[in-house]
Amino acid sequence: MPVKILVVGSLNMDLVATVEALPQVGETLTGKRFDTYPGGKGANQAVAAARMGASVAMLGAVGSEDYGRRLLDGLTLDDIDVSGVAVLPGVPTGTALITVSADGHNTIIVIPGANGAVQPADLDAAADAFEACEVVVLQLELPMAAVVRAAALARSLGKKVVLNPAPFQPMPQTLISLVDVLVVNEIEGLQLSGLGGGLNDNAQAGTGPHHEEVMDALVAQGYPVVLMTLGAEGVLYTGEGLSGHVPAATVKAVDTTAAGDTFTGTFAAFWPEVGLERAVALAVEAAGIAVTRPGAQTSIPYRRELSVVGD
Ligand code: ADP
Repeated sequence: MPVKILVVGSLNMDLVATVEALPQVGETLTGKRFDTYPGGKGANQAVAAARMGASVAMLGAVGSEDYGRRLLDGLTLDDIDVSGVAVLPGVPTGTALITVSADGHNTIIVIPGANGAVQPADLDAAADAFEACEVVVLQLELPMAAVVRAAALARSLGKKVVLNPAPFQPMPQTLISLVDVLVVNEIEGLQLSGLGGGLNDNAQAGTGPHHEEVMDALVAQGYPVVLMTLGAEGVLYTGEGLSGHVPAATVKAVDTTAAGDTFTGTFAAFWPEVGLERAVALAVEAAGIAVTRPGAQTSIPYRRELSVVGD
């Protein structure tokens, strides 16, 4: 039986301009290429979970123009149930305007559009979708009130809540108490831990906290499971009486967009089936594949590509 996942989150079209060097204020320059990639943290995590074999439904909102239609068509091709995604006339689909320079630096502007219109009442109206799933996956690209309501609904129905608190914003205590699994990257971990300053991986180099201190601070906030992704260094995990580090494979990274989303969606798809440690290992392998390919949803691998699953 596939694991049943409900993703309540964002759908964005990523509009990517590739340039030699990022423009200065007031500068006009000629870019090298332009690409549109389906994205949004919610949709990316839904695609990752679906490609890992989970049965996935999504709640959210898009506009009624081409971008919205393309996003929904893409999710449908991945067998994701999008009947709970509202199509809002006259509201733009969420977009991310991304500029990438030849040396890999970028600037990103996210315009929430329809994502920002999702209200707590919309989630109450979709209670059946919560009832039908095992795990609810949340990020912070929807209004906070909607995220809190989704977590509360999930908890009231006995479902597990996986939260990826990105982009970072201060979290209300009510939300913290509703989370079963917290998935953060280094920066989000540092911000949420309240330890401040920069991370200090080199004891001689600085005065910031170490990864372990950040993990300890997050665990002390009460999350039963904490997963902190460390880019090319892999993932730290604590929960279910276990803690440890899973290193990432050494790969040639061409585009790390959606690496964290691939990790989160893959983890959610496997966790109920195989437990914490194995789900983390599978998620690290999937994210390591995603970084070798361009784009967001275009880069997310399928279950059959994971050596450790083998089917
Ligand atoms: P985010 O994309 O949210 O910033 P990270 O950069 O921590 O998150 O990446 C998430 C996961 O993707 C990492 O834990 C790792 O498993 C994988 N990953 C990211 N960058 C690399 C890389 N250069 N090489 C191998 N794996 C990577």
